[in-house]
Amino acid sequence: MENFDICIVGAGPAGCITALELQHLGYKVLLIEKTTFPRFHIGCSFSSGILHWLTTLKLTDLLSPALLHKHSMTSILWEDNTIINKYEQGLTVDRGIFDQLLLQHVISLGVHVIQSAMDVRIQEMPDTTWMIQVKKENTFFQFGARFLVEATGRKSLLKTGKKGYLPPLIATYAFLPQSFKHPIVEASAEGWFWGTPFKDVSLIAYFSHPTAVQKYKNSNNCYTAALQTFQTVSLLIPNNLQTFTCNASSYEDKSPIASNYIKVGDAAYTTDPISAQGVTKAIKSAVHASKVIHTLLQQPHMNEHAIAYYEQLIRRDVSQHGQWMNDFYGRQQIFQTPFWQQYSGRQTMDNTIDFHLHLEPQDLLMIHPDLNFVKSPVLGMRFIEVQNAVVKKREEEPYVFIDNLLIVPILKLIHQQTVFNSINLLYKHYPHVNPIYLLRYLINHQLIIKKEYEINEKTIDPTYFTDSYKEESLS
Ligand SMILES: Cc1cc2nc3c(=O)[nH]c(=O)nc-3n(C[C@H](O)[C@H](O)[C@H](O)COP(=O)(O)OP(=O)(O)OC[C@H]3O[C@@H](n4cnc5c(N)ncnc54)[C@H](O)[C@@H]3O)c2cc1C
Repeated sequence: MENFDICIVGAGPAGCITALELQHLGYKVLLIEKTTFPRFHIGCSFSSGILHWLTTLKLTDLLSPALLHKHSMTSILWEDNTIINKYEQGLTVDRGIFDQLLLQHVISLGVHVIQSAMDVRIQEMPDTTWMIQVKKENTFFQFGARFLVEATGRKSLLKTGKKGYLPPLIATYAFLPQSFKHPIVEASAEGWFWGTPFKDVSLIAYFSHPTAVQKYKNSNNCYTAALQTFQTVSLLIPNNLQTFTCNASSYEDKSPIASNYIKVGDAAYTTDPISAQGVTKAIKSAVHASKVIHTLLQQPHMNEHAIAYYEQLIRRDVSQHGQWMNDFYGRQQIFQTPFWQQYSGRQTMDNTIDFHLHLEPQDLLMIHPDLNFVKSPVLGMRFIEVQNAVVKKREEEPYVFIDNLLIVPILKLIHQQTVFNSINLLYKHYPHVNPIYLLRYLINHQLIIKKEYEINEKTIDPTYFTDSYKEESLS
């Protein structure tokens, strides 16, 4: 039986990027994929955010052979009955080709890959290592691994349970024999459409609640009925339209990490397809997961921090995405149907305060008395590390950085200073960052508040300035 340091199951973007990163770190990696590439995969619109990751990972060369369309505009019929053209760069790619090129790159770097693997079985051994059994072309192979990565997309391997953080969504899609010039997003009574040019046809997906499909008996009827209401362009709907259906709900895994396994990409959490963020988030989670795995394997004394870091990362992404989606669905004003009431149900918190309205240059600033100073796990160059941070009472998420700057020294710097002095101090200590931007961030997140004279000085915990933070250099 051949032994590996890490076994990754699933060779989509999340599995391949995890394999790449771990191979670079010197691990012996096994990557198992059940299908034969190239295979069709839904999820072909990339927002420009993906370019950051592909550039960082030096993988931009993989994009052009898979690129179908580059667009600078999306037509949106959403907020009222007018079509709005939103000017934003986006890409439509052939995921079959993109995923295949990524996998070929992984193979070229020496990762051991088993593709077209049937019947992948995983067993946790008493010593917490894993035994993996794979059937390929009627032959069984057995491998051992210290660590397991689940990158199987929406199909779970380790049944740890999932919880939905947005109402359920079902996607039905088909290829229509006409090509749009650019992507289209359109609200309809019981769901919404997303259409994009795909080679010389167009791919139109319809997203609705599963009960809408039940009402029409099957997804094909539901899709065709909904398509009749499409407004943005007139469609040619063939009689024998072939449709495909898949689950598009947003969920998070209940237990995405332990000391001997991690879930990455859609296996850890999924995003609403309207955001076109799925692949970008899958790559992001894979990059972070690789450092978490490296920490778990090399620095066992940091296990607790590494696990907490990854859990926090997922919780934060899920919470931000959930709020963003509720806000986006809430802006739809054409239909007031149960579908829209349900999807825009949760009110988003608007914490934004325009501090120009509240502050004068001579106003005194202070650290919010509800902040606690804590130690928080963060992503270092190679491992998960621990840094000083602040957390608000009754909240879980610590504030560690503003961009790449540590927050704690910044808070100390401007505590008890006037707005005018704060801006000068920030400029002096952080000359490469806009001081107004820093101040606005701290005030909008209520980490710094205006010191009203009636605030009792004793409301600030005196240990703020008597512990190790006091000795810390501000530079
Ligand atoms: C309808 C819909 C539309 C979407 N549109 C977009 C979009 O426009 N833009 C975007 O960025 N994202 C979109 N997404 C999301 C995007 O497709 C996913 O987020 C992305 O593919 C996740 O990557 P992954 O590597 O985690 O999983 P996947 O890409 O799903 O890869 C998982 C791999 O694991 C393999 N696998 C599964 N089980 C096993 C097993 N037991 N053994 C071995 N191999 C296994 C699968 O064959 C697959 O190759 C959409 C999703 C849906 C449902």
